[in-house]
Formats: sequence, C-alpha cells, structure tokens
Amino acid sequence: MDKVDILSLTRQELLDNVLAIGEKKFRADQIFDWLHVKKVTEFSQMTNLSAQLREKLERNFCLKSLKIKKRLVSCIDNTVKYLYTMPDDERVETVLMEYKHGNSICISTQVGCKMGCKFCASTKAGFVRNLAPSEMLLQIYESERDSGRKINHIVLMGIGEPLDNYDNVIQFLNIISEKEDMSLRHVSVSTCGLVPRIYDLATLKLGITLSVSLHAPTNELRSSVMPVNDRYPIEELMTACKHYFEVTGRRISYEFALIDGVNDTRESADALISLLRGQNCHVNLIPVNEIKEGAFKRSASVEKYRKMLEEGGLNATVRRTLGADISAACGQLRRDNN
Ligand code: SAH
Repeated sequence: MDKVDILSLTRQELLDNVLAIGEKKFRADQIFDWLHVKKVTEFSQMTNLSAQLREKLERNFCLKSLKIKKRLVSCIDNTVKYLYTMPDDERVETVLMEYKHGNSICISTQVGCKMGCKFCASTKAGFVRNLAPSEMLLQIYESERDSGRKINHIVLMGIGEPLDNYDNVIQFLNIISEKEDMSLRHVSVSTCGLVPRIYDLATLKLGITLSVSLHAPTNELRSSVMPVNDRYPIEELMTACKHYFEVTGRRISYEFALIDGVNDTRESADALISLLRGQNCHVNLIPVNEIKEGAFKRSASVEKYRKMLEEGGLNATVRRTLGADISAACGQLRRDNN
C-alpha cells in the first residue's frame, strides 16, 4: 500500500490518520506544527516526538520534498525564479516577487498543461501530471526557506490550469485556510475559463480572488489564441463570471495579455468595453511575454489601451513587469531544462 502523503492532509485528516495509528489527539497538533509552521523536511527533525513515534510516522507516511534545480535572481528587483525538481524527477517553476505590500509567490499546479494557449510556453510540450496539494505547498515552503523571505500573497498562475486539477487545488486551499500565517484573501486563482468548474468554485464561497484569462473580447479572436474558447465560448464564460460574483461577492479580475496587432487595437478595446460594461470587475493588462515558439510580439500600446478602457468606464491597470532580466516566459525555464 502507498504511504499517505502527509503534507497533503488537512488538520482533520491528519488527526484521523494519527488516531488510526493508535496515537493521541495532541500528537496531531504537534505534527501539524512541525509540518506547516516549522516546516521540517524530515520526520527525524520532529524532536518532541519519541524515536519510536517518528519511526511509526516514517512507516505510515511519506514527507515529500523539492530540490532546487535552478535559481535565477533578478539584479533589477530581486525577483527569484526557481526550477524545482520533484521526487519523480519532474520539474515545475515558481516565481517569488517583491511588492510594496510584501512578497508574492506564483506557483505551478500541474506539470505541463493541456489547454494549448498559443502564446504560452507551459503548454507547448503537453501535459504530464497533476501536482499534489503537498507539491503546491512545498513550492511556498522551499522558496521561503531558500530566500529567507516571508510570503504574504499566493497566486496560482504558474505552469498548469488550476481548475483542471480541481480537487487537489481545493485541498491545497483548504490547508492554506487552516494556517494562521496565511489567508485566502491573499490568494488568487487563475483560470483560462473552465466554465463548469467556475460554478463549482462559486458554491464554496472562498475568499480568494478569481482571475480569468480573457485575452480577447470576441469569440473569433479568442478561439484563434485559446482553444478552450471552442469548448466554453465567451457568452458562457461571462454568464459564469457574473454568477460567481453574485454568489461570492468577489469581483473577477480579467487577465488581458496585449499582443501587437492582435488584440491591442481600438476595435478590440471597444469590444472589450461593451463586453464588460456594468460588471463589477477589474482588467489586468499584461504586456505579452514573447516565447520562442510564438509569433506574438509585445504590444507597444499598453498604456494607450489602458486609457481607452478607462475612458470606456472600465477599471484597468497594467501589471508591473518584474524580473525583466530573468524574464523567461512562464514555462520556458522548464522547457529549456528537460
Ligand atoms: N492556466 C491558468 C493559469 C496559468 S497561466 C490560466 O490560463 O489562467 C497565468 C497567466 O499567464 C494567464 O493569464 C495566461 O494566459 C498568462 N500567460 C501565459 N503565457 C503568457 C505570455 N507569454 N505572456 C503573457 N501572459 C501569459
């Protein structure tokens, strides 16, 4: 029988497992503290447990860890990009960014991605596997340990489509919500628009921010860069997003990567304004990161586009470019090191 992945358990599940091996309730609290507060990497470091109990844990559970394969540090703004190797030798990327309000970490949720967005490096070599909740948490714990920085914000915007790994992402969020040093108010989950999962997520009424990767205001344009739009066209996506806001009271943040000559035109801005007018939402404009395989060029009219949206009554900001000197686009580092 496979050993239980102990870092993927919620507090209650850990308690159930500890009782099942014949230990007392308070042991579960001690172990949770070692795992999620002190963040040890081996059972042998749990020094207030007897050697006998540590051996018992060793027999029943596995405690995963990640290894740093590569670390790139920006000379401009201290952004750190990690390439982590997991126990099965698969790799994912994690990015640590400094903002005025604290440190933010961008984590991966899958090895590779099935979604096929034309501008994204993460999906070019296809999908390998989902990440376990523990592997999402470990990206945070290892980055904190390595950098010595305390992380305040978590964004699920690295490699993978979070809502395509729905159960593990929800389990990860449940564990985060139990930790005293973190809050779901400081977590963003980004999706390319898996409509049924947006409805599922709404029912949970979590305090997270939902970011939706829109990138185009019409079906024709969106389908040409995001194949997922053929499955869930813009009208269905908008209905789901409005429902999400009504149920949770949390406004949606729309991601919009500006590509030269593709979606940075006056017509595009007008179409986006009429699409989103009246919605309580926010538009996050991103100058597209150019990737090796893509023919897409970064738009030169980002600020102009933002003004057009603002004049049309939309709430829009431009995402600051961080780590420009290590700016391998999302998924590029993993691609180059396989
Ligand atoms: N699969 C999820 C989350 C991962 S991608 C999603 O689609 O939202 C995180 C964000 O980066 C998404 O908005 C995605 O569309 C965007 N992105 C991917 N490649 C990019 C690139 N080359 N330049 C700018 N943004 C990119």
